[in-house]
Amino acid sequence: MPVLDPPSEDPVGPYSRLSHTQADMHRRCPKMWYNRYILGLLGGSPPIFAMGHAVEGALNRVMRDSPVLVSHDSRSETFDSPLEEVDISGTGNVVVRPSTQTNANWPGLSLSTLDKSEWPRERLQITTWAKARARIHFEREWAQAKKEWLEDPNRVGDWDIFEEKRKEEACQMVFAGIEFHLDEVEDCMKANGGPTFKDWRVGKNRPKWPAPDGFPYAHSIPHPCAESSGEITFVEAWEVARPWFCDPDAGLFALTAIHPEGWLQGEYDLVYRWTGSPRIHDVKASVGTSDYSFGYPEQLATYAYLWWSTHNRKELVSELEIWYLGVPVRKKINLPDEKSLLRLENRLKSLHKKLKMSEQNPENEYPGNPAPVRIFAEGGVLTDAPPLTGMARCDSCEYQLVCTDSPHKEELLKGGSTKFSSTSEAQINCTPIGDIDPFVTVRGTVREPNMVKQWPKFEKEYLEFFLDLGPSEWLAVVIRQDNPNIPFGFEHGATVRIRNGIIASGWKKSLGAHKRLDVSASGTIELAPTSSEDDVAFAKLIPEEYNVHARLYNFNHQEGKWAAKLIDDTGSASFQVWGGDEKSRAVLEGYNPERGDEVVLVGAQAKDQYGQIVLQARVTKTFATRLRPKP
Ligand code: SF4
Repeated sequence: MPVLDPPSEDPVGPYSRLSHTQADMHRRCPKMWYNRYILGLLGGSPPIFAMGHAVEGALNRVMRDSPVLVSHDSRSETFDSPLEEVDISGTGNVVVRPSTQTNANWPGLSLSTLDKSEWPRERLQITTWAKARARIHFEREWAQAKKEWLEDPNRVGDWDIFEEKRKEEACQMVFAGIEFHLDEVEDCMKANGGPTFKDWRVGKNRPKWPAPDGFPYAHSIPHPCAESSGEITFVEAWEVARPWFCDPDAGLFALTAIHPEGWLQGEYDLVYRWTGSPRIHDVKASVGTSDYSFGYPEQLATYAYLWWSTHNRKELVSELEIWYLGVPVRKKINLPDEKSLLRLENRLKSLHKKLKMSEQNPENEYPGNPAPVRIFAEGGVLTDAPPLTGMARCDSCEYQLVCTDSPHKEELLKGGSTKFSSTSEAQINCTPIGDIDPFVTVRGTVREPNMVKQWPKFEKEYLEFFLDLGPSEWLAVVIRQDNPNIPFGFEHGATVRIRNGIIASGWKKSLGAHKRLDVSASGTIELAPTSSEDDVAFAKLIPEEYNVHARLYNFNHQEGKWAAKLIDDTGSASFQVWGGDEKSRAVLEGYNPERGDEVVLVGAQAKDQYGQIVLQARVTKTFATRLRPKP
């Protein structure tokens, strides 16, 4: 059900696929989307974000447990799913998700069935069991949420204060979710299990993407609680009514639904199927008074569209609901028919096209034009209060201090001369970020073009050649593109012009130290029979290094890469240190930067990464780049 391997030619990137989160951010303010997805500015992570994950994780763990296999006081891990690593879209992005292998060790196959006298027979009994399970799962999820929050370099706020105020409230939200689910279980009982019940009793017609229930994906043995005849029992209804949800042991975005054409994705919360038609419910760990409530109907409509389009445009969703667990209340959302699904498709498709083309579109295509802030009462009820218009949204926007269109924007740094550190009087000259332009245009004659396996893994192959600019004047060129656009007539002896390359210092055993021209995503090659004033002379082709004085806006670390986003009055840039923790510690020399620090970067080189400028420090024993807080 949820994952379709997409026949997608989209590059992997933040806006290669549209999601509701992106669409809604663009609706709230196009500039907000620009700040987040083009400039890459990440807001802070307060503990309340972690709370939502803990609530949903605990609720899903309870719904996955079986009251005939898991006693009320068993460890949380008792019913954990076996996992596998999968490269869903063949892009090398491996995700962890429940195993589809036939020999996977599912707990339902090995656990003994509890004594029948312990099986819940009525709502109160199953509620008691489920809430006992919830307490155990919630502690695990809360501890995990806290650990992840503490490890998040972009965290803001105080966990202990938050925990004292909100932890029990969060657990009560799990209980509320359990009650809503038990309403479904009771409805299922009243309908004697619905149209699929007979098949379920004999182990037939298990869906391709079953609800997480502790048993293998392909499984045809009747459930241990399945009776051979008679009325449906409470424990049978618990098993049959169970919705599809993201297995709580799956990794982030591992069970995302992807449009068959690859341009849209989304992750459903709960998909109830026991009535014979899909009903999608979305869980919110909130009371619904925020302006986000305005975007939820479209979020649910997008899920309905995604379901329809991934089921051959034949299966229409028959119910959409939001569960506001903080109230608690279930809010029904109007169902889109086929015509409105097609209208939504048109709108989302053109938005996707616009956002995907964002690299070519100037910043003014994404104006600071905030949508009015609507006022909602508990349960996502729109009130009669007039919406707050103009720039009111900026008052609560995470970009209000740095956004160029915000009325609250602070004056940021502008480069210029500054002290390197508190212990030194030496002044260094800093380049405003907006003035960093490492690109050069060169014209020369191609010599010995060849595909060469690249250091350090020698797996990727790139086109390399020499470019002769004059007697004894040559560059070693590396075209760092998978499918470069090579002009007809490009060969040994051809005269070409390369635009948007970056000069670096190269070294090879066979060549010694030399000048190298790196041509990445922004670079182009053309035949050049005549010279142009853009062509830069060999003597002026010198590797550039930059000093930058800026605010550290956020971190963006990934495996093996320490990364921060820097911002000044003229723009923003990424700063990266490759080589793991040890290397980044060497660069930082004991300094532990925090969001908002004013820093000075010395001697960084600019690289072209997927068409964006990033500042890099390749760390050697005698590194030249240091990130220091400004005193
Ligand atoms: S500060 Fe205002 S204009 Fe800027 S992104 Fe936020 S809402 Fe939009």
